[in-house]
Amino acid sequence: MIAEHLRLSPGPVDLTALPTDATPGFDGGKSEGKEALEELGSELSDLQERLYAEGRSGGTRSVLLVLQGMDTSGKGGVVRHTVALVDPQGIEVTAFGPPTEEELAHDFLWRVRRALPAPGRIGVFDRSHYEDVLVAKVRGLVEADEVERRYDAINELEAELLAQGTPVLKCFLHISPDEQRERLLKRLDRPDKHWKFDPVDIDDRQLWPQYRAAYETALERTNTEVAPWYVVPADKKWYRNLAVGLLLRDTLVHLGPTWPDADVDVEAQRRRLLDEEPVR
Ligand code: AMP
Ligand code: MG
Repeated sequence: MIAEHLRLSPGPVDLTALPTDATPGFDGGKSEGKEALEELGSELSDLQERLYAEGRSGGTRSVLLVLQGMDTSGKGGVVRHTVALVDPQGIEVTAFGPPTEEELAHDFLWRVRRALPAPGRIGVFDRSHYEDVLVAKVRGLVEADEVERRYDAINELEAELLAQGTPVLKCFLHISPDEQRERLLKRLDRPDKHWKFDPVDIDDRQLWPQYRAAYETALERTNTEVAPWYVVPADKKWYRNLAVGLLLRDTLVHLGPTWPDADVDVEAQRRRLLDEEPVR
C-alpha cells in the first residue's frame, strides 16, 4: 500500500531529508502513472457513489481530504486531475484564503467547521486550518502561545471527526524550491497563467526556510495516530496526482461504504412497471 511509503514517521520532521522528486511505491514512469490514475478513476467513482448512497440513506460518514503545500505544489492540480475523477455532486471543495473580517471575529476553526463535508460527501480543503499555524506563524499574525494552542485544537477536531465517522486524509505536497521557481517562471511565461500569478507568492518564497520550519513543527505536532500526515513528493505532477488518488482510494476502502438496502419492495415496483397500462 502506498500509505506505508508516504506516511510520516512519528517524531521530529526534517523535510530536507524527504524526497520531492521520487515516486515511492510506484515502479513505472509518467505514462504508466497516468494510465494507473485513469484506471483508478472507476474504482474511486464506485467507492464515492457508495459513500454518497450511504449518506442519502441516513448514513453520517464522510471523508475529508486536506491538501497543504507551498504555492504551485499542486493543490489545485490534485483537485482537477484526481478528485475530478468522481461525480462532482459528491464532492465539496473549499479553498481557504486569508480570513475575512467576519471569520477573524471567530475562533480559527469556525470557518473550518462550517466547511466540513455533509454526510456521504468527500470534502476537499485546498489549504485548511493548517494555514492558521503556518502563514499565521511565519507572518506573526498571532502570538506564539496561540499557535501552540492551535496544534492541540486541530488534533482535537480531527479526532472528533474520526470518532463521528469522518477520517481526515492529510497530504503535504512536497516540492523543492527549484521546482517552485520553474513553475512560477512558467506562470509568467504564459499569458493564460498570469491570472494565477500573485507577487505575494514570491514574498512567501523568500521565506522558504521559515515556512519549512513552520511545516516541520506543524507536521510533527499534528501527526497523530488518528489523523497521520502523508508527505507526497510533488515535483512530478503525475506521481502527485496518482499518489493522492491511491491514498484516497485506500481511505475509502478502509471506510468500506456498502450499498444501502432498498427501502422499497423491489419486486412490487418491478411488477408495477411490467403490469402497467401503456403510457403515452
Ligand atoms: P492561493 O492558495 O494561492 O489562492 O492563496 C491563498 C492565500 O491565502 C495564501 O497566500 C495563504 O497564505 C492565505 N491564507 C489562507 N489561509 C490563511 C489564514 N488562515 N491566515 C492568513 N492567510 C491565509
Ligand atoms: Mg497563491
